[in-house]
Amino acid sequence: MDSIKEKWIKIISLLKNESPFERHESLNLWFGNSKVVHFQDGFLTVEVPNSTIKDWIDHNYLKKINQLIKQNFNDSFEVSFIAKEFNNIPEPEIKIETQEAVVNMNYSNLDSKYTFENFIQGESNKFACAVAVSVSDSPGVKYNPLFLYGGVGLGKTHLLNAIGNEILRKRKVKNLLIISAEMFVNELIESIGKNQQNIFRKKYRNLGILMIDDIQSLVRWDSAQDEFFHTFNTLYSLKNQIVMTSDRPPNEIPKLHERLVSRFQQGLMVEIKPPELETRMAILERYAKNNNIIVEKEVLDIIARKVTDNVRVLEGALIRLSAFSEIIGKAEIDMEMAHEILQDILKKEEKEISAELIQKKVAEFFDLSEYAIKGKKRNKSIAISRHIAMYLTREMTKLSLKEIGELFGKKDHSTVIHAIKKIENKIKEDQHFAREIEKIKSDIIER
Ligand code: ADP
Ligand code: MG
Repeated sequence: MDSIKEKWIKIISLLKNESPFERHESLNLWFGNSKVVHFQDGFLTVEVPNSTIKDWIDHNYLKKINQLIKQNFNDSFEVSFIAKEFNNIPEPEIKIETQEAVVNMNYSNLDSKYTFENFIQGESNKFACAVAVSVSDSPGVKYNPLFLYGGVGLGKTHLLNAIGNEILRKRKVKNLLIISAEMFVNELIESIGKNQQNIFRKKYRNLGILMIDDIQSLVRWDSAQDEFFHTFNTLYSLKNQIVMTSDRPPNEIPKLHERLVSRFQQGLMVEIKPPELETRMAILERYAKNNNIIVEKEVLDIIARKVTDNVRVLEGALIRLSAFSEIIGKAEIDMEMAHEILQDILKKEEKEISAELIQKKVAEFFDLSEYAIKGKKRNKSIAISRHIAMYLTREMTKLSLKEIGELFGKKDHSTVIHAIKKIENKIKEDQHFAREIEKIKSDIIER
């Protein structure tokens, strides 16, 4: 009896191991209320609450689950799912209590592999990291709420978990929960469906620390925003720490209710920026060392130079190389292998960026003609687009100030300097503007 129940729990944990952290909560949603109802003739039958869940699991997980069984169990058996409403099998022989399954899968939801020790710091993230450490030292005291934002793959989820792990390590607080906003919404929907909204409220409003990942997903549903508003207020008034991450600052999240924007802004907001070259190099070196990957320094260097804006992609390049070297049985990863395996990454920026390309992309971005960008019109919005194009040409090409002047309507080099200075200052003063420039830059790099 027991061993069958354990089998199912093991299968779920195998599935979790194979999935990225972000997916763990959705696994809880799909499998949290599952129970084994039958085991006979090599078939393990698992009941799930309804046919929507069954269809989803069949479509997305069934194949994987049966594959995992083949790889991990000595006895051969297959899993199949049935929906509760269609389940005519008499009284179950074996049953996993819902709560038990949930507890087994959930724990505190933290991913223990994300710690401060293995978070590499550089100019781009050191402030965020320092603040995160401070919050883990004294949650709820200084920076509440803490709002971390930045692009994809820059370490937001990592830092969020690091805060949680550190707090747990020091046993400062009980009742810590880390959850994605997406899952918060799903849970709320589920609780309403089961008429258990009071349980939901009790759970969230009694937390010692709430850490919400990717808060921008909250806007999927107005009622979720309302619910979160009340959760937030309760925790905040109890001086319980709230940490949020987002891909952008609160006032730039479309459809986020004004009252939440102002609550989020009331604490500390910190941006995590893409790591600079040195930090990227350090991340790769650490990754290689921790995973015993033997690799020429030149290879790390070229990856670090080419992959500039996403640490996940950066590490992914190394993972691909290491998998390949294992398959072909070659211990050391060299440049030849890198060129073969990382063609997509390496060729991307090999073509030189030209002033014409920059003019074209800037014109597209502001919906202007290339002619206007190159011309002499002094209309304010055209002039600023032209200044941006000049600034980017200086940044992204090897052209001299004089050459740039020539390409932008025969201007002298002091005019070019003036334009570049103007943009540099605006980038420093205006975060929204700075992000727009980053966006144009990546448009140019991607062509
Ligand atoms: P985000 O949540 O911002 O999209 P993640 O936190 O999921 O990004 O980070 C993506 C991957 O990159 C993770 O494996 C993470 O450990 C790693 N990573 C990101 N930044 C750093 C860093 N500064 N040092 C070490 N690893 C990092
Ligand atoms: Mg994340």
